[in-house]
Amino acid sequence: MNEPYAITAFYKFLRVDSPEALQRTLEKRGKDLGIRGLILVAHEGINGTVSGSPEAIAAWKEILQETVGAVEYKDSVAAENPCKRFFVKVREEIVGLGDPTVFPSGPNNHLTPQEWHDMMQRDDVVVLDTRNTYETEIGKFKDAIDPKLEKFSDFGDYVKECGIPKDTKVLMYCTGGIRCEKASMEMQRQGYKNVYQLQGGILQYFEEYPEGFFQGECFVFDHRTAVDTHLQPSQKYHLCPHCGDPGDKHITCKQCAAAAVICVRCEQKSEHKKTCSKNCAHHHELAANREQCKRQTAVQ
Ligand SMILES: [Zn+2]
Ligand SMILES: [Zn+2]
Repeated sequence: MNEPYAITAFYKFLRVDSPEALQRTLEKRGKDLGIRGLILVAHEGINGTVSGSPEAIAAWKEILQETVGAVEYKDSVAAENPCKRFFVKVREEIVGLGDPTVFPSGPNNHLTPQEWHDMMQRDDVVVLDTRNTYETEIGKFKDAIDPKLEKFSDFGDYVKECGIPKDTKVLMYCTGGIRCEKASMEMQRQGYKNVYQLQGGILQYFEEYPEGFFQGECFVFDHRTAVDTHLQPSQKYHLCPHCGDPGDKHITCKQCAAAAVICVRCEQKSEHKKTCSKNCAHHHELAANREQCKRQTAVQ
């Protein structure tokens, strides 16, 4: 397929003396190329997803090679540009475990997609998803434990209470691999001895096993909302206009009659959320309140 937009996700842990200087360089060079997306820069490295023409993305990879050295990429394509704007931001961490002293510094039981695929077929392993609930809800690996995280920084507390025996072989995974770099260190710090992580995450696995053990779709942090196991933009999920979670409930806006997609929780929450936008929800609620006032006044 010849899609007009290329998307690439990447991260690298490395010591960055001046995140501000790196931020300025990447911002300028990215703008010159006309790419879009979000890149986080910290003393511990860089993490981002960008989109653009295939030529611009190829040029971007050369720029990263120049500035931070070799980086691994998770590539996909789309018919529409999934990112709307371009930001390079300086942060305390490039992935928020809530502890910048956890610094992954090289190979740490990484499994290639093939090794992962083989390990998953053993019966002495536990598969652990390190992503948040709004991600696991729309898809995860077969039989994976869902820690029901609201945010990644809750992972350490989850491990303390998870009850998984410390000598268990734990296979952990996330979207592109970055969260597991820190999550596996956190588990090791808490005494787990056999922690393995999926190199390149779900996205890399999809490249090699589109018909493998992943069930559902994989949430991604851009306007595609999710990708299917063939790395194609989701046909099913859209970001809920009220809460930002992936949704698949098709509705007609109670306020403006536009077709919209919202999430199941908002659909159940209130009539006002059966609307296409926060604005329409607000006006629908106002109208309902006015109705109620009128009725009360009539009774009085
Ligand atoms: Zn919602
Ligand atoms: Zn509306």
